[in-house]
Amino acid sequence: VIVALLGVAVALGLTALVLALAQVASILLPADTKFGIVFDAGSSHTSLFVYRWPADKENDTGVVSQALTCRVKGPGISSYASDPAQAGESLRGCLQEALAAVPEAQQQQTPLFLGATAGMRLLSQKNSSQAGHIFAAVSDVLGLAPVAFWGAELLAGQDEGALGWITINYVLGLLVKYSFSGEWIRPPEGTLVGALDMGGASTQITFVPEGPIRDQSTQASFRLYGFEHRVYTHSYLCYGRDQALTRLLARLVQSSTAPLVRHPCYHGGYVDTLSLAPLYESPCVQAAPRPDFPPSLPVEGTGNPGACVSAIRELFNFSSCRGRQDCAFNGVYQPPVRGQFYAFSNFYYTFHFLNLTAGQPLAKVNATVWEFCQKPWKQVEASWPGQQPWLRDYCASGLYLLTLLLEGYGFSEETWPSIAFRKQAGGADIGWTLGYMLNLTNMVPAEAPAPGRAQSQ
Ligand code: AMP
Repeated sequence: VIVALLGVAVALGLTALVLALAQVASILLPADTKFGIVFDAGSSHTSLFVYRWPADKENDTGVVSQALTCRVKGPGISSYASDPAQAGESLRGCLQEALAAVPEAQQQQTPLFLGATAGMRLLSQKNSSQAGHIFAAVSDVLGLAPVAFWGAELLAGQDEGALGWITINYVLGLLVKYSFSGEWIRPPEGTLVGALDMGGASTQITFVPEGPIRDQSTQASFRLYGFEHRVYTHSYLCYGRDQALTRLLARLVQSSTAPLVRHPCYHGGYVDTLSLAPLYESPCVQAAPRPDFPPSLPVEGTGNPGACVSAIRELFNFSSCRGRQDCAFNGVYQPPVRGQFYAFSNFYYTFHFLNLTAGQPLAKVNATVWEFCQKPWKQVEASWPGQQPWLRDYCASGLYLLTLLLEGYGFSEETWPSIAFRKQAGGADIGWTLGYMLNLTNMVPAEAPAPGRAQSQ
């Protein structure tokens, strides 16, 4: 009745009545909607996602929608090693926003999770007790929220890759199909899409290869909707965008012949002062500080994409894979890429900035990035006002991502069009968080739904 009245009020344009009825509906109907909250504690920052789904369709595919996202102010939780309590405090603002989005009657049964990725992976390698204190501090804050806190944990790189793959295939409705004859059928393997995730500290590639997976450490298997899935997945620590660019800068410092850094990936005319301590603090940088250099150095851009690509190549060990079809770089096993891919996070941010997410051919993508790198810094600043702090690094990230995709993962001119650069699919951000929640709440059952029960979608 409420919904029918709401429809009439909307049709008659009775705004006050619409608002009043919507409020009544939200009080009367919350039991039909369920919620879940996930914090993604990344290396550069933390984000929160609130998901919602109709309670009676819990186990159907593609029914979860994203109700809210919130970006936590400040850096990632791994940056609070010297003051762990602040890591917990930093989450309060977004937590409050999430609680406001979940009706009070639903809160007690709303699961809340925090998953930490490569930033915390690096910290726990370097100093596991500091990492432990941070997990304890965030758990203290989240544990007091009036929802069901299920815990804060470190995700392995493999899980991050596999969960991103589940997310994208779930939101695209590719995990299970309802056939004309009334049965749930397995979609053909070739229709499942691969996932390319570029975080700040690590990057993941996950897909279903054509043939066998010959290195078991790169295989993830799971049973979803009655079907066994076997994916190839690998996470490269220190190959996330921020750490890759930090490593590049450190290499340029180490090879400087004078106390001045000439950076080929920064635009011509760019000048700045580079403080060296943060470079050497990065756990991805192995080099020791140069005793002949002061604590900070002048840095100037030379806007030379050819030299930039050469410097970026040095971050990879390609020779360890030379002559092998089933190897990416650093001697890491990888079967040839196959099928459609969704590339998200920084893959999207960078190519979106460069207007290259509309399926342009590789030659056009290359030419655009090179032209951008050659633009003088003054012109770049004037053309994209208010885009700091990212502006300086789009040239370096563009060339880094191209090197990784083409020379690392082995995409080519022919397979390039199979990569879709996207931030969202089906109204949800693409990343590991949705897959994580689906997995922990058992919302993607191992077995198929009962025969003859068609999906609502
Ligand atoms: P995150 O979403 O924090 O995992 O970010 C992944 C990578 O993208 C990190 O290297 C961030 O520094 C970078 N990043 C985040 N937001 C943007 C943006 N709006 N433009 C460019 N890079 C970004």
